[in-house]
Amino acid sequence: ANEHFGVVVLGAGAAGMMTAIEAGRRGRSVLLLDHARNPGEKIRISGGGRCNFTNVHATHTTARERFLGQNPRFALSALSRYTPENFTAMVRRHGIAYHEKTLGQLFCDNSAVEIITMLVSELRRAGVTMRLGCEIRGVERPAERFEIDTSDGRITADSVVVATGGKSIPKMGATNFGYQLAQKFGLRVTETRPALVPLTFEPGALERLKPLAGVSTPATVSHAKTRFDEALLFTHRGLSGPAILQISSYWREGDAIVVDLLPDQDAMEMLQHARATTPKLAVQTVLGAALPRRLAQMLGESLALPGMIGDFSDKKLQIVADQVSNWRLKPVGSEGYRTAEVTLGGVDTRDLDAKTLEARDVPGLYFIGEVVDVTGWLGGYNFQWAWASGFAAGQVV
Ligand code: FAD
Repeated sequence: ANEHFGVVVLGAGAAGMMTAIEAGRRGRSVLLLDHARNPGEKIRISGGGRCNFTNVHATHTTARERFLGQNPRFALSALSRYTPENFTAMVRRHGIAYHEKTLGQLFCDNSAVEIITMLVSELRRAGVTMRLGCEIRGVERPAERFEIDTSDGRITADSVVVATGGKSIPKMGATNFGYQLAQKFGLRVTETRPALVPLTFEPGALERLKPLAGVSTPATVSHAKTRFDEALLFTHRGLSGPAILQISSYWREGDAIVVDLLPDQDAMEMLQHARATTPKLAVQTVLGAALPRRLAQMLGESLALPGMIGDFSDKKLQIVADQVSNWRLKPVGSEGYRTAEVTLGGVDTRDLDAKTLEARDVPGLYFIGEVVDVTGWLGGYNFQWAWASGFAAGQVV
């Protein structure tokens, strides 16, 4: 006979582990499947190895602004029932040391592996069966029960939870399995694209940026009405750093982004002050006092305005100020799923119940985590969505 479980969870990532723990605690028989050899591989590499496991601001009150998707209100229900404080309480209970970095971001003091160890011990305590290195060949529902065909045999289940994540970092096992499964069961899937990803430039523009590779500076990066005040990083492929990763979720092909390299100062005032107090300095030197030296040099060269600042008219100073605070750049693309932290778009939220994450027309089938069309800002928002959506489904499967 086939093996039977009350709940089969596909994908032992952040969301899948959370759902399995919650369902197991409720006494359900739970099988957690993954084709990877280890659970939570993305947790392991997240936050530079320290896992930015949540953000104190990732609550229903900020959700409309800080989560993207066709329906920005969809995430509110799950986020309001499982908060950053709920997850942090579990982290503390396990004695994991953590700290708040900037902008409400919570990181492990030591290693992301501690988060995985915590979840695995909770899975064990909840009596969940975990099967790794297991290929999922197909999911059918010929009658009341689901049938899952795996490399380890055929399994039947009352409920199936799809937690197979997004398309980013295919090298680590990301697949489009979840999207295909959704479509197969008649759910709509919105257009997907890489997000939280470095932006790239056409060769001419890149030539100018390349000498700056490695330079990092605080900036305001904006696209239409959306703006982020975070670090900007120049790389040999283009622009990266938190400010760029954030704006990449809003940027579309053909659009420009605007960079203010002096986010805390009025550039024109700064230049006028320099003209009055240090009239003999070259513009490049004045900029060099406020910006990383290599960046000031590149701006100075591209402006090609020689001479002493004392001789500059207001009009000329304004040209310099614009270059510094209103720098328009036109990316040609992004680095794609190879380096993207997340996938924008996914299972259409119109076809899911916001409270339970169950497919409206397929009782017993659930979609949680990144595979759903809910994408958070950088800084712990995506894990918080994974925990919260996993928790929500875990209460009802
Ligand atoms: P995942 O964690 O991706 O889990 C999906 C699981 O499904 C994987 O274990 C995978 O092996 C399995 N799977 C996929 N396809 C199949 C298949 N066909 N058969 C069987 N199993 C399958 N977010 C933050 O909030 N903070 C951070 O610090 C952060 N840092 C990041 C750093 C990097 C480099 C990356 C790539 C992402 C980062 N993220 C971060 C985003 C975060 O990792 C994801 O949003 C989150 O892991 C999504 O959880 P999930 O459970 O939905 O999917």
